[in-house]
Amino acid sequence: MRKLFIAGNWKMHNGVKDTEDFFNELFNLVSNYEKVDIAIAPPFTSIPKAVEVCRTKRVLIGAQNMYFEDKGAFTGEISPQFLKELNVDFVILGHSERRHIFGETNDLIAKKLKKALNEGFIPILCVGETLKEREDEKTETVLKEQVDSAFNNLTPDEAKRVIIAYEPVWAIGTGKTATPEIARDAHFFIRKRIKELYNSIVADEIRILYGGSVKPENAKSLLQVDQIDGALIGGASLKAQSFAEIIKIGM
Ligand code: PGA
Repeated sequence: MRKLFIAGNWKMHNGVKDTEDFFNELFNLVSNYEKVDIAIAPPFTSIPKAVEVCRTKRVLIGAQNMYFEDKGAFTGEISPQFLKELNVDFVILGHSERRHIFGETNDLIAKKLKKALNEGFIPILCVGETLKEREDEKTETVLKEQVDSAFNNLTPDEAKRVIIAYEPVWAIGTGKTATPEIARDAHFFIRKRIKELYNSIVADEIRILYGGSVKPENAKSLLQVDQIDGALIGGASLKAQSFAEIIKIGM
């Protein structure tokens, strides 16, 4: 049985003060959430506050990106070692905003993924097609390319530790959620590909989250799909109230 993973990706929202307020409110709203893994990826500068306020709580704190080198002349980049110093648990890699706004390639993402595993982080690898790719019936081709490239250099033991987030680009921040059927088909395809690349043990263990306009109103129909092992939530994770409602659906 794969444990449900409910993660918030705050993107460029919630500074230090808002981070503290968020968690104080969240812990008033939810307790006894043993049945689900809860995770939040604040902006880098809010990570220390998040780690501090969650010290006695079972909440994973993550980064939204990292570089694959430990140090050097890489202006503006964040080293995995800096994240380790802050006790970060996980790191989101290959988010569609990184791919499409900042031009990250499958190659670069594969390097970051390998590094994240070497350093002991839980990586959340994001994959997903654009609207044009879906309309051109290229969804499976794109997903296969993204998955194959990311897992190219990973052992079965490493592969099992990756969490994949299927995030159709056309559903991110647009209010358009994939239907449970669309999500199920994509998750099934990704899991099948992992089985082909490794074996059924890895494919059965790996968690695949859905992301793209997940809200309290649609979380139930998505989370009850057998192929969907959790959610990566942007907008609806910014406020403790809506994030707590989604966690409660998962419980
Ligand atoms: P959204 O973002 O929930 O606001 O669509 C999801 C994501 O980008 O991970």
